[in-house]
Amino acid sequence: MNALLLLVLAQTATPLAKNVVLIVSDGVRAREIFEGADRSLMGEAGGVENEAGCVEKFWRADARARRETLMPFFWKKVAREGQVFGDGSRGSPMRVTNKARVSYPGYNELFTGAADHRIETNAWVDNPNVTVFEWLNAKPAFSGKVSAFATWATFARIFAVGRSKLEVHAGWTPPFENDAERTPGKDLIDTLHRSTTPLFGGNALDALTSAALKESLKTKRPRVVFLGLGETDEWMHAGRYDLALEALSRADATIADLWDTMQAMPEYKDSTTFIITTDHGRGGLPWEWKHHGASVLGAEDIWLGAIGPGIPPLGVRSSTGLVTQSQVASTVAHVLGEDWRASNPRAGSTLPLWPLLVSGRPSLTLQRNAE
Ligand SMILES: [Zn+2]
Repeated sequence: MNALLLLVLAQTATPLAKNVVLIVSDGVRAREIFEGADRSLMGEAGGVENEAGCVEKFWRADARARRETLMPFFWKKVAREGQVFGDGSRGSPMRVTNKARVSYPGYNELFTGAADHRIETNAWVDNPNVTVFEWLNAKPAFSGKVSAFATWATFARIFAVGRSKLEVHAGWTPPFENDAERTPGKDLIDTLHRSTTPLFGGNALDALTSAALKESLKTKRPRVVFLGLGETDEWMHAGRYDLALEALSRADATIADLWDTMQAMPEYKDSTTFIITTDHGRGGLPWEWKHHGASVLGAEDIWLGAIGPGIPPLGVRSSTGLVTQSQVASTVAHVLGEDWRASNPRAGSTLPLWPLLVSGRPSLTLQRNAE
């Protein structure tokens, strides 16, 4: 075998899956993921209107039963058939590396594989950094096959749609207003975007955005999908722990429905990976659960679940050492057999999670990401 062929083989990774879906539920603490509902917040401290009802619905004495009650798809499907990162109590913490610990810096880190310390707030202009979605969309195999549906209007800037030309549906803009292929569902969803009271300013409701993504699959078959849900963060900021739990539980059901919908389509069946994560954590101290930011302790802690072809069912990972948000972009690319690190020097040290997922052993190189 000649040297050139060896080189080519070394650089061509086998795709694990044909399609990848990255789903983010905004600002969900690792605490709720791994331990379920927090009893100390299921009353006045959490702005809960009906404590008995909230307890009946979400509280179970056993932590495993509690988290399965809150997120049945995540725990009974993803954690059994895939893998979950971020359980610090088992030596597998997952953190953001950006110092701001707010949304735009977090999504930038998720999508580009590196924290950009210029981006400190959500008010930042169009993202100067190329995202893994923009990079994939520029490749012939993925051209026009990248779709993003997100509740938050700011995603137009995070994805820099003016430059990237990505198909991004964000905020209250009717998602199908420029879509020539009409369906009754698209008409209804556009109408609801125009007629629903904007409860959270530029953040649309999760139900509308996820319904739009599902409806879009009737006429399009994207290979790379982003779904951004925002209510988990909004209800926590609003001081309504009961509604934040409802939003998280509904996000889980929405992800389950999307999984079932796609598994029933030949283009996606057994060839699609879901990666589910969050953009930042929130305060771990009892009075800080509503907040996140540079000075909020615990807001750096995040989590991630993944399910799909080529991911051994190792469940909740332990003893991996620190993994980081900046590894997600290379992981998204790696699923599709692409090498994001080679194309983006800033993401050079951010290994995909998959070597970890496959070997089940910690990678020393990962420690460099902690800086
Ligand atoms: Zn956020």
